[in-house]
Amino acid sequence: MSIASFAELALSPRLQQTLTELGYAAPTPIQASAIPVILAGRDLMAGAQTGTGKTAAFVLPLLEQLMQLMQQPQAGSSRPIRALVLVPTRELAVQVFESVARYGQGTALTSALVYGGVSIAAQVEALKAGVDILIATPGRLLDHLRQGALSLESLRHLVFDEADRMLDMGFMDEITALLRQIPADRQTLLFSATCDDNLFALSRVLLRDPELIEVAPRNTTAAEVEQRVYAVDGERKLALVEHLIKVKGWAPVLIFSRTRQGADKLAQQLGKAGINALAFHGDLSQSAREKVLLEFRAGTLQALVATDVAARGLDISDLNYVINLEFPHQPGDYVHRIGRTGRAGNKGLAITLFSPEDAPLLEKVEAVLDTRLPQQWFPGFEPDLTRFDPEPRRSGKGAQKQKARKQALAGGKGKR
Ligand code: AMP
Repeated sequence: MSIASFAELALSPRLQQTLTELGYAAPTPIQASAIPVILAGRDLMAGAQTGTGKTAAFVLPLLEQLMQLMQQPQAGSSRPIRALVLVPTRELAVQVFESVARYGQGTALTSALVYGGVSIAAQVEALKAGVDILIATPGRLLDHLRQGALSLESLRHLVFDEADRMLDMGFMDEITALLRQIPADRQTLLFSATCDDNLFALSRVLLRDPELIEVAPRNTTAAEVEQRVYAVDGERKLALVEHLIKVKGWAPVLIFSRTRQGADKLAQQLGKAGINALAFHGDLSQSAREKVLLEFRAGTLQALVATDVAARGLDISDLNYVINLEFPHQPGDYVHRIGRTGRAGNKGLAITLFSPEDAPLLEKVEAVLDTRLPQQWFPGFEPDLTRFDPEPRRSGKGAQKQKARKQALAGGKGKR
């Protein structure tokens, strides 16, 4: 990649000035590769995680193209939606909206936000004023279309941000319904942290002769994140988390739990131990989630205990630590979880607390990363070896059958 400065990208002086004001010295790799492709009007499929600068990679060229379009004489005085950014979650919608506002300051372009869980009336009102760029979650956008509150007939640019998550969350039907209302003659950009067969299938439906860009090899984790797996007995996990926060000073820390109940329980337990911790998951109302996030961003919270869906796409800067209470069921979620740290050039540390019953999940993650994650012990929290499976981990059907037999013979002992 030979582009080393924003000046080499064909962005207007207005945007260049904003970037200087924001203190962005140089484009990140995804920006250097994606911006010229998007400005050239090509479709794009980009593999990039949160933290790589991917938002600016599509927002800047969108703004540039729309500014140029605005300079052309327009028929009538109507102001149709020209660009749509589809995102899986409300939090990501808010973040993208904020980025559009940040990068678009000083331009005449307008944007609006449409997501579920809040009153639809206020959103309809905002749309009436005329919107150039719409950021939306699929379900609520369909509601608006059904109500006739907006039209996508003049759309020119369609962006999918965190497309993999959209598929994971089962948005395929909504996407199909939306595509029926969007002109086929458009530019489509697909951003995703991980790329699997489902995503490639979606890309074949959506994209025309796309340029493919990957800033990190597919399904690998950002290089500046150090990953550690600590073998620890299940009942000592809480004590270890407490130790890391209180003694080792790991704060603010983002902790992942597989379940909402688990997140609530840990946040409560940490609270009892004198740690300022809150849970963050889909059972909370939108306003409660925003409040929790605000506190975490402001640094008043020491620990945020989140589920995968809720934490998706969180842009929390200066995060040095991520703790996985256990491995996620979906290996892709592991990649997303640890992508919360090591951002914008800072080195991050992501640890996973591992107990023997999670061995199959560890193997799945290792298979996706194509690397081994060696286990270690945390001094003072070594596992009780009399209960630890001394057998070396083996994959393959034979080993799995053997394991299943052993578990069956143990009569479900050790299960939680
Ligand atoms: P994203 O991957 O879009 O979530 O961006 C991650 C963070 O990097 C955001 O807080 C951006 O403000 C910041 N950022 C994006 N591009 C640059 C850049 N070229 N230089 C410095 N920071 C950037």
